[in-house]
Amino acid sequence: MIEYVGVAHVHSLFSDGTGEIPEIAKYADESDLDFLLMTDHNTLRGLQEGFEKWYGKTLCLIGCEINDKENRNHYLAFGINETYSTRLSAKEYVRKVKEAGGIGFLAHPHEKRNHMKEHPPYPWVDWSIEDYNGIEIWNHMSEWMENLTEQNKYTSFLHPLRSIVSPPPETLKLWDELNVKRKVVGMGGVDAHAHKQNLFGFFEVEIFPYKVLFKSIHNHVFLPEPLVKGNSKQKLSKSKAAIYEALAYGRSFVANDYHVNSKGFQFFAKSGKKKYYMGDYLDLSENVTLYVTLPVESAEIKIIRNGKEIANFSSDKAEFEVKKAGVYRVEVSYFNKAWIYSNHIRIGI
Ligand SMILES: [Zn+2]
Ligand SMILES: [Zn+2]
Repeated sequence: MIEYVGVAHVHSLFSDGTGEIPEIAKYADESDLDFLLMTDHNTLRGLQEGFEKWYGKTLCLIGCEINDKENRNHYLAFGINETYSTRLSAKEYVRKVKEAGGIGFLAHPHEKRNHMKEHPPYPWVDWSIEDYNGIEIWNHMSEWMENLTEQNKYTSFLHPLRSIVSPPPETLKLWDELNVKRKVVGMGGVDAHAHKQNLFGFFEVEIFPYKVLFKSIHNHVFLPEPLVKGNSKQKLSKSKAAIYEALAYGRSFVANDYHVNSKGFQFFAKSGKKKYYMGDYLDLSENVTLYVTLPVESAEIKIIRNGKEIANFSSDKAEFEVKKAGVYRVEVSYFNKAWIYSNHIRIGI
């Protein structure tokens, strides 16, 4: 398995971002990202105008963020070639993405911010829908906005990375509950716009410059083969399919790599001689063991079964013997800072 690291949920000038795609992709390349997932609001102009390609060592793939007519139920859709009318209900566009062979994730499902009237919250509201692949468990911009107060706004604007603490607990709780019923993959988004705003009455600040945000919430995916470089149609579609497959399958984890780089983190199960990875299912048998390894000397590792913490370790690795069926995932924090959120391994359910 080869690990690739990328950012998802990024807006350009094709909607309400402030950068052109080639410029944003250049920042991603300079940030050593392997992939960049663009998601402009209700448009695939970037795709249609040929911006989906390699920029240096970064593969830029283009999906979009769809919303309904009340501007709710934001949906990050990838692998589709046309956008849908915002007059459709969320149920309809989620189904259409699936029918078109695309994949999709509920964006910032529990957004609550209320500090800036020009940026109201856009939560997910229709929970009767099931045709999606996953949810955005961690959204940089949502959390940053939610934590914003009159007292901290100056430091928050100056240090957009330090104000990020952890994914919303209610999103993690719901994510675990959903997984007990069926696989729902977790992914992370930066929701970068690089808005320029006159905030303090006298000078304009660029909120969330792309390059700054690209240091924070990353998606690490594991692919069976190396990505194929090159901008021919055939090579692009092969690499694109590989990344989307890993994301939809949940062979991935989410991490805030600002404090320390999580590349090299591993979480797998062994049953006899066979190895199973994040996103996999295996039967519960006599000797199933979970293994965690970290790329740092020590951090706090929590093993979570069906949403409940069942073991914790302060180490560079952990081993846990599985006695009960359930969905298992791992959370790691580094010096009290939320860091890694693995996808689930399903055992016997
Ligand atoms: Zn949104
Ligand atoms: Zn967005």
